[in-house]
Amino acid sequence: MVRTAVTVDLDAPTNDQPQPLHNRWHPDIPAVANVEPGEPFRVECIDWTGGQVEDSDTANDIRDMDLDRNHHLSGPIHVEGAKPGDIIAVDILDIGTIYGHEWGYNGIFAQENGGGFLTAHYPDACKSIWSLDGVYATSRHVPGVRFEGMIHPGLIGTAPSQELLEQWNERERALADTDSAEVPNHPTGEDVPPNALPPNENEALVGNLAGEDAERVASEGARTVPPRENGGNCDIKDLSLGSRVYFPVFVEGAKLSMGDIHFSQGDGEITFCGAIEMPGYLDLEVEVIENGVEKLGVDHPIFEPGHMGPTYSDYLVFEGYSVDEHGTQHYLDAHVAHRRACLDAIEYLKGFGYTGEQAYMILGTAPIESRIAGIVDIPNTCVTVSIPKSIFEFDIDPSARGSYDGTSRGDVARTD
Ligand code: ZN
Repeated sequence: MVRTAVTVDLDAPTNDQPQPLHNRWHPDIPAVANVEPGEPFRVECIDWTGGQVEDSDTANDIRDMDLDRNHHLSGPIHVEGAKPGDIIAVDILDIGTIYGHEWGYNGIFAQENGGGFLTAHYPDACKSIWSLDGVYATSRHVPGVRFEGMIHPGLIGTAPSQELLEQWNERERALADTDSAEVPNHPTGEDVPPNALPPNENEALVGNLAGEDAERVASEGARTVPPRENGGNCDIKDLSLGSRVYFPVFVEGAKLSMGDIHFSQGDGEITFCGAIEMPGYLDLEVEVIENGVEKLGVDHPIFEPGHMGPTYSDYLVFEGYSVDEHGTQHYLDAHVAHRRACLDAIEYLKGFGYTGEQAYMILGTAPIESRIAGIVDIPNTCVTVSIPKSIFEFDIDPSARGSYDGTSRGDVARTD
C-alpha cells in the first residue's frame, strides 16, 4: 500500500478540502505535502472543474461553467532535496478512478464561454457522460463506441520561479492585448474566445495563503490553461501508466502539482472540455537528478511513455491540408490542416447516424492518433487524424458507409 500524500473529499467544496487546492501557478503557493525521493506515494485529485459538471442529460452546466475556477490542482508537493537546476524524474506507477465515482464527462464549450478547436462550426454547449467499467468507456450519449482508456494526468508540472512567472505573464499579456483579428488561427477574429488568459484574481485558489500574501499571489499567479516550460496542462494522452516524465526544477523542493485526470483522450483534446474528465488518483515515485537541466540538456519536460496501450492496429485515416473551409490557401499551417482533417472525419462519421457533435466528441475522447505527416511541401502541411476502427461496434469501412440504414444513434446532451 503506498502512502497517500494528498487526499481529496469529493463531497466537500473545492475551498474546503483536506489539503488546500490551487488553481494558479506561483512559486509562493505553500507545499501541502513532502515526499522523499524513491518513496512511492499517492495523490488524489478532483476533476478539473471542481465538480461543476453533473451526471445528467442537460448541458446547462457546461454552458454556465465558471472557467476562472479551473483547474483544481492537488499539491504543490515538496520533493526533499530538489533544488533549482535539478530535474525530477517522475514515474507514473498507477492511475485510476476514485471508488464510487466511476464516470466521466466530455463537453463542447459554448463559443461565448470557452470555445474549442471547432467552435466556429460547433458553437453550442453540449455534453456526453461516460461510464467507466474497469478499463472500458461507453456513453449513453454516444452509443456504438466502446474503447479502453489510456488514463493520464492532463496536467502535471513543477512551480515556476518568480523570474519565469514574470516572463510568462509578460508574453501572454502581450498576446491577450492583441486585436484578435490580427491573431493567426483565432477561430472568430473577435474578442471571444480570448487570445490568452493573463492573471485574474477572480476565484483564485492559492493554497492556505491569507491576507496580503494571498492577494499578491492571486494577482500574479499564472493561469493553468496553457502548457509551459514547467509542463502543466500538456494534455498528452501518451503520458499514461508506466511513463517516466522529467521536469526541470525552478524552486526549492520542486513543488510538483497535478490534476485534470483523463480516462481517455484523442490527440489534440479538441473539444477543450476536454477528454473524458474525472476525479482520480495517481501513484508516483520521484528521483532527483542533481544538476539535471545541464546534464540532460533540456529546460522543459521530456518523457518516456509506458508500454500499456491500448494498442490498436486498424485505422481509418483522414488527411487535412492547409487550405481552409473557405478555400483560402495558408502557408504550411498545421492548425488549419488539423482542423480540416477533423471536419472531414466528422462528416464521414455522420454517414453512420451520428450527429456532428457526437462525432466531434468521439474525436475528443477516443484514442485518436494525430500526426503532422508533412510540413515542408510548400504551401500545404498535411496532418492526419487516425480513428481506430475497432472502437466501433459496427463496420466503419468505406465499403459500409453507403449502406447504413439510417437508424438514429441518439444524441449528446444539449442545453434546455
Ligand atoms: Zn482535461
